[in-house]
Amino acid sequence: MIDTHAHIDTEAFAEDIDEVIARARAAGVEHIIIPAIEPNGYDNLIELVDKYDMLYFGIGVHPHSADKFDDNVEQRIRELAKHPKCVAIGEMGLDYYYNELSAADVQKRVFRRQIEIAKELGKPIIVHNRDSDEDLIEILKEYQDGNLKAVLHCFPESKELLEKAMDLGFNVSFTGNITFKKSEHKEVLELVPLDRFMIETDSPYMAPVPNRGKRNEPSFVKEIAKKISEVKNMNYENILEQSTKNAKSFFKIMMLVLGIALFTQTSYAQDDYRYNDEYIEEEADYEKAPYPKFIGIGGFAGTNTIVESQVFIEDSNVPDKNISYEGISSLGGTITFGGLADYLLLQVGYAYSKNTKVQETSPGSLPNIHQLIELSSLWIPNPHNKINVFGAIGPSYIMNSINGVDNSQIGLNAGVGFIFNVPIKGAGLLNFTAEWRLNFELSAIEREIEVQANPVVTTTIESKSFYSIPRLNLIFYPEF
Ligand SMILES: [Zn+2]
Repeated sequence: MIDTHAHIDTEAFAEDIDEVIARARAAGVEHIIIPAIEPNGYDNLIELVDKYDMLYFGIGVHPHSADKFDDNVEQRIRELAKHPKCVAIGEMGLDYYYNELSAADVQKRVFRRQIEIAKELGKPIIVHNRDSDEDLIEILKEYQDGNLKAVLHCFPESKELLEKAMDLGFNVSFTGNITFKKSEHKEVLELVPLDRFMIETDSPYMAPVPNRGKRNEPSFVKEIAKKISEVKNMNYENILEQSTKNAKSFFKIMMLVLGIALFTQTSYAQDDYRYNDEYIEEEADYEKAPYPKFIGIGGFAGTNTIVESQVFIEDSNVPDKNISYEGISSLGGTITFGGLADYLLLQVGYAYSKNTKVQETSPGSLPNIHQLIELSSLWIPNPHNKINVFGAIGPSYIMNSINGVDNSQIGLNAGVGFIFNVPIKGAGLLNFTAEWRLNFELSAIEREIEVQANPVVTTTIESKSFYSIPRLNLIFYPEF
């Protein structure tokens, strides 16, 4: 399970944070997400998330502290958002109950600005709301163009608000107050779709029954799942599983676990850093990352091993055969688009191979020509590093000319490789890519082959090939 909202970086946990984390682990909590409250707490927050693998954080300014938001704070938020364990912008929002802490117009302005930052950085937002439903929804609606991901945390009892949040495509998360005797959450809990809710403690506040009134902590988060399972009349395990799945997908945690595993091996975790100005200057490399990849043009060369499987359909006495041709040169080009996310590249590739080796076995035949058009997604778990690893997968369109007869096939391409990022000042980014790409034809075609030369005897076979191409690709991403 994941506690998606716990302020365990605060004073309330200063004395016994190690034990609190140990108890959370023992209770089955996999991850805890700590939303920042205000700039004075950022250093402590980062120190904590760097210390424990299971912690992630959101960075932002709580509406209570909206007064403290200025250009410098915005700059710090942008810097800290690059931290590999930053999963969201927030906590942010509106609080009209405590409106003496920050004026409503200041709260609204700071809320808007933080939504803009989150959208620009492609991060979800963690939203706080108290007695401000109307303004909150109005602002969120204004920014929802299909790209805003938000969770309304500590969700209240309002069915109307739930409907609006669902219409806008948002998630909600429930906390200890749903377990209170006077809670009127029943309807909201019944109505909330299974794929749209998460659970949280909001520690140190809102401790659920049976710990109501005590300091709250992440190990209590199971009580929230229990209550939801009771109201929805569903298995407790299912609720746990579903809320964990929702949280992992909302905060993109799977991707991060993989990324951090690779990332911490190299540049990031070596220093005991703080996000002060000195650190940022020293770590100029990190500042530049992720390497800017928008549109890249590339060319590659490699060797192609073609394996053709032949099934003799006319003459069932002949056993099936695999014929392989090795060391055929393969040349091509790629256009790569990196504008979607740091960890994802979309690539269109074209590869050309001319197989003259067929003429060694059947001298009268024409060389076989294979043209592969690959549409691939390249997934990079460590995009901030100088050397990236990646896995590629996507559909292919394969055009063959076999002994002068054309046919085309739908296929699948998959590969693995490394990217070396070499920035060129003022011009852009050069990528040396070493990869091994496979292409599989998905369906067989029928064709004639010669089984005897003199006199000529032919038979019909079903033929299907796969192509194994280790290759070096040079890609250039110009600076715009
Ligand atoms: Zn909070």
